[in-house]
Amino acid sequence: MEQKMIQEALTYGRRFVRYGKPASYIPELASKNPSRLGIAVCDMEGNLSSAGDCEERFTMQSISKVIALILALEQNGYDIVFSKVGLEPTGDSFNSTVRLDHLTNNKPFNPMINAGAIAVASTIRGATLEERKAVSIDFARKLTGNSSLDVDYEVFLSESNTGFKNRAIIYLMRSNGIIEGNCEDHLELYFLLCSLACSCQDLAVFAATLANNGVSPITGETLIQPRTVKLVRSLMVTCGMYDYSGEFASTVGMPSKSGVGGGIISCAIGKYGIATYGPSLDDKGNSIGGLKMLEYLSDNMGLSIF
Ligand code: GLU
Repeated sequence: MEQKMIQEALTYGRRFVRYGKPASYIPELASKNPSRLGIAVCDMEGNLSSAGDCEERFTMQSISKVIALILALEQNGYDIVFSKVGLEPTGDSFNSTVRLDHLTNNKPFNPMINAGAIAVASTIRGATLEERKAVSIDFARKLTGNSSLDVDYEVFLSESNTGFKNRAIIYLMRSNGIIEGNCEDHLELYFLLCSLACSCQDLAVFAATLANNGVSPITGETLIQPRTVKLVRSLMVTCGMYDYSGEFASTVGMPSKSGVGGGIISCAIGKYGIATYGPSLDDKGNSIGGLKMLEYLSDNMGLSIF
């Protein structure tokens, strides 16, 4: 993508960052500088272009839900994973418990909300918790093309010390028979995935792999099976942007996933993987500057799939 276009998107996005604020329910995230904004774009040949605070490190948060889902599907197959989670949007906030106790089959609605992602993480296999963590980090390194990608342990501790809502969610699912085994172990793995520290460049490579039908644009290796790519991209469209997913589909129209760390990944299928970072969030948990930059690129480059 032309540098001029990326720079223009950044300039446009910067006008909006003052209207939001960083997530504060995870104490470690509250101290992030809300004026930061960055973007990176990776094309299908692996060429990266970027602008703004694109090298700043931030935690993936809910963007890691996509990685967890892909790994769980590869390890277990579809039947096991979808015996624990559905494929329908909720229209509720990402950490809602409202519907969890009212379902006939007790399954959380989809893998992009906390309950669904925790259920998915509970299926990630390994002989020990340490092995499950190592396999997950390793897989995230492959998908981002960054072999030194690692966990931000300050954010991890901040999350696990304050993650009472997620504890409520997992124990509710444990009592309903969705979760098996040790809840604290599953939560530790979930928090670890959320706390993976990355840059826009790392996530642009991951988004480009999804946009390139599962083939890494850097190495040419198939990292995700085509069936899984199709499923994941469709879930990103219907559920990837919290309870703003419907409006986002009409304004931007690219499979995307947001995280409360301020990141968003977006797939211009067959063209680009885009990653934005801006910790100033709106009241749904989406990065305000990130949304505006994606709107700008979608409008000016005709990137909507619709
Ligand atoms: N770690 C966050 C949580 O569990 C992730 C939320 C998000 O990014 O949507 O609440």
